[in-house]
Amino acid sequence: MLIINIAKIWGIIDNKQPKTPKQYTPIFQSTPPENCYLLIENGTIKKWGSMKNLTLNNKTKTIDAQHSELMPGFCDSHTHAVFTGSRENELLQKLEGLDYFEIKKRGGGILATAQKMASMKEKDLLDESYHKILNLIKLGTTALEIKSGYGLNKNTELKSLRVINQLKKILPIPIKSTFLALHAKPNLFKTTQEYYNYVVSETLPVVLKQKLADYLDLFCEKKFFKPAYITKLAEIARNNGLKLRVHTNQFNSIGGIKAAINAKAFSIDHLEQLNDKEKHALIKDYSGFCTLLPGVSFYLDLPYAPAKYLIENGLNVNIASDFNPGSCPSGNMGFMFVLACLKYKLTPLQALETTTFNGAKALEIHQTHGSITIGKKANFCLLKPNHTLNKIPYYFSTPFIDKVFINGTLF
Ligand SMILES: [Zn+2]
Repeated sequence: MLIINIAKIWGIIDNKQPKTPKQYTPIFQSTPPENCYLLIENGTIKKWGSMKNLTLNNKTKTIDAQHSELMPGFCDSHTHAVFTGSRENELLQKLEGLDYFEIKKRGGGILATAQKMASMKEKDLLDESYHKILNLIKLGTTALEIKSGYGLNKNTELKSLRVINQLKKILPIPIKSTFLALHAKPNLFKTTQEYYNYVVSETLPVVLKQKLADYLDLFCEKKFFKPAYITKLAEIARNNGLKLRVHTNQFNSIGGIKAAINAKAFSIDHLEQLNDKEKHALIKDYSGFCTLLPGVSFYLDLPYAPAKYLIENGLNVNIASDFNPGSCPSGNMGFMFVLACLKYKLTPLQALETTTFNGAKALEIHQTHGSITIGKKANFCLLKPNHTLNKIPYYFSTPFIDKVFINGTLF
């Protein structure tokens, strides 16, 4: 397939840039080629070039981009997209003045979703999740990580993980599966230690045996799980050839950063609450990924993570949606792009890098996805005619994705 009359191709990797450690170096060409064609063969990018140099072959299926701009598809490296139900009642409670912890005390929060998940048939959960993700693809998401963690008991956690693994097979985009082993303690257990023992002796062995997860994860937070559990899960991950992702510093700074750095966590996610000591520790001692989730800050009215500071100090920052029913009921990566610019103060080019290529790196699929590179999968989006990359944050509420291509096919 041939795409003609592309106004600009964003997302081409600029190998000419010298790599400077611990400093931001642009990944993508900041002056993209203009008035181009792009040729796709067998689902991968074959070549691109100037329209002036194009000789048309009548047999090639051609799509006219009508002078719109092209960008790589979003790679969302942190979601909880397999869940059921909605929690708008909690939003109402919040608007009446209750906080996250008070809502949890009144039976809301993670436990409320877990209850609905337990009674749901596996095929219905698969069907609901499948349609949710189709909608995300229409919004430009072309790769995804999905966590379990709304099950909280063995059967429901395994059901969620099986659904994620089914989605890997039936959806055309790459999906990574994460066992969110410690999300919230069900009331059935008196202590977090008791619940941890249950997860490790009951659920985890099956997850490992059936190879249901690519990563392990936990929620380190006051009244949830202490940093010591990062160390414990990291050891299990290491012993079983898995990598660890960590939710930490969303509401409080309780030592999660230090524990995650020491545990060599693959990705540290959230970071809305970072003190100076933690920022310096990340810069000095951490070479994994900082996964930032601006939709959570927006929806819960939390501080925004210091994205620009982390990027300018050379950390591997990627931006994801955290799509989930409680703290970010949106998986729209276009909106995360807007927040990256308006709230994190990133340039549109930085917002593009952190939502596409860096996301692909955090999903370990950057050899095949995340940029416009010859030989990579042809997963990209055409912007609406007259919209441009720089107009995305300016017209902040205007939909800008016109067409999405997955493996070279118009979705
Ligand atoms: Zn999350």
